[in-house]
Amino acid sequence: MGSHGLALTHEIGDKPAVLKIDLTGRRAFVVGIADDGGFGFAIAKALAEAGASVVAGTWPPAMGIFEKLLERGKLDASRHMSDGSMLQFERVYPVDAAYDTLEDAPQSVRESKRYASRGDFSVSGAAARLVSDFGDKPLDIVIHCLANGPEVHLPLLKTSRAGYLAAVGVSAYSLVSMVQRWAPLMRPGASFLSLTYLASERVIPGYGGGMHAAKAALESDTRVLAYEAGREYGIRVNTISAGPYASRAASVTGIIDDVVAYYEINAPIQQKLTTLEVANVAAFLSSSLATGITGATVYVDKGYHAMGKGADPEKSAYPPEKGSASNK
Ligand code: NAD
Repeated sequence: MGSHGLALTHEIGDKPAVLKIDLTGRRAFVVGIADDGGFGFAIAKALAEAGASVVAGTWPPAMGIFEKLLERGKLDASRHMSDGSMLQFERVYPVDAAYDTLEDAPQSVRESKRYASRGDFSVSGAAARLVSDFGDKPLDIVIHCLANGPEVHLPLLKTSRAGYLAAVGVSAYSLVSMVQRWAPLMRPGASFLSLTYLASERVIPGYGGGMHAAKAALESDTRVLAYEAGREYGIRVNTISAGPYASRAASVTGIIDDVVAYYEINAPIQQKLTTLEVANVAAFLSSSLATGITGATVYVDKGYHAMGKGADPEKSAYPPEKGSASNK
């Protein structure tokens, strides 16, 4: 194996074989990174481990903090790569996924402290930056790794129209906007990938503010976009339905620690999900090993989605011990 590539070793016949995720020469745009505590950072790192160069997209209100964390070396421990180098971002672009063009942003936002100096932070603005920095066909991989629901802490019965539509606009329509504007910039073999959650199809009490509907829209759009962008550009579009992880965004819900603990008891694999597990699947889905996969919702959740009934924590061992109540 060369210096890059995520490698899986298998025995084929009596010969060991290495199946490589090789993204050498590819450029990824990972939108939704502002620290090293979420899926975006882990995915960026896995893509870089596989040889890709990575441009980060950061929400303007979080960008100052992210730049400071990078400058002051606070992310250095997480940036260590397996070949001894440090994860580098080719660029960090401001992206507010709520806006398709700069004109769509209200003047109060454009003139506010955290936006005013950032130039064009819209989805179209990012397309213009990519072309100006890297030429006409600058992209191979887009990772949509962001969500925002201003009323996520409210139950649906208390969610306002504005809160609901903001959740769907930022967390779901943003993918449509990105495919519209960025697919024409992509090279052959390119793909989009987003992150979704099981709340789209099952009730997760506490995942409020219309976020469940945003994720349902994101998954449905993934299928339609896969068809349309597949036919128009030959591009693949998939989404990973990740299990719970206590990222900054997830912590805003106030329920994340409970949900993580619940999965640990009730999922087929009784372990906490790691960001690396999600990131490795993201690298695979973005690679030429996955050219047959599009329009898919891929569960990376220790199998929890398959369960129809939670295990009784008192009797969570399987198979049940001989003579125990659950075995009678
Ligand atoms: P995170 O906090 O690391 O990522 C969310 C990012 O979205 C942040 O960087 C934030 O700045 C950015 N963001 C918010 N509003 C934005 C906007 N208008 N424009 C651009 N960026 C914006 O948290 P995460 O949990 O890693 O979330 C990443 C994705 O994973 C989200 O789609 C989330 O719904 C999904 N997901 C998370 C979990 C979980 O339990 N953490 C489970 C399943 C799916």
